[in-house]
Amino acid sequence: MTSPYREAPQLLLCPRCGEVLDRVFAGVAACPRCQGAWIGQATLDTAFGNPRWPQGQNMWWHNALECPECACEGIVRKMDARSSNEVMVDCCPSHGLWLDHGELGRLMGLDRGADELLELQKRVTAISPDPDDLAQRRLAWRGELDVRRRAAAEFRTWVEGEQRRKASEAAEQSKQRAAQTEAERKARKSQAIEAQRSAEARVRELAERRTFVEELVNERVGLIHELRRLDAELTTRRDELYRLQGELETARQRIREIDAQLDAGEPPSQ
Ligand SMILES: [Zn+2]
Ligand SMILES: [Zn+2]
Repeated sequence: MTSPYREAPQLLLCPRCGEVLDRVFAGVAACPRCQGAWIGQATLDTAFGNPRWPQGQNMWWHNALECPECACEGIVRKMDARSSNEVMVDCCPSHGLWLDHGELGRLMGLDRGADELLELQKRVTAISPDPDDLAQRRLAWRGELDVRRRAAAEFRTWVEGEQRRKASEAAEQSKQRAAQTEAERKARKSQAIEAQRSAEARVRELAERRTFVEELVNERVGLIHELRRLDAELTTRRDELYRLQGELETARQRIREIDAQLDAGEPPSQ
């Protein structure tokens, strides 16, 4: 019977504790120290009809184990952590599944304390698979795996694009904020300059008014002086006038005396 799966390497190391795994039966090895089990995809396919048994949700798990078969090929590959029925299992997409002691029993729904590897072996020997059917299922799974890998790669690309987009958005926003702040600063500065200008203009205006008022005051003082001078001159002229009127009166008196003497035929007295 030819299997589409290749034989597992002879020497596998326990991904949990580093011990050399013992071969239990074809496609199954167990750790003599921690009693975990490594089950190849061919065995999973035979026993459960699915090389990627058990179905479950892939989880991000920082303690993911390294695949012992990949290690034989010189590749360090962290296995996918998958949660199935509250059991966290580690599986290599190319090789198989690592189960800590007791996990296989829980996944198979066995009673506590049952010999899980013996139950698995019973299952495998009870089912003798058709190699062609196996090969076809294997191919189908390969195809699905590729699709999933492509989807994962697309998703990763999308996430990276989103991250880049968000980063550039954040950079753009901070640039805009900086520009806004700069604009506000400029606006405040020009407002301050404007306020200073208007204050200066007000000061100039006040100075002009003060000069004008001072000029008015000076002019008024000048006018008062002039008025006093004219008043004094008026007094002087009035005195002169009185004096001249006196002289005129005297002269008239004299004329009347002379006229009277002439009328009397007397010679005018000197
Ligand atoms: Zn171990
Ligand atoms: Zn592997």
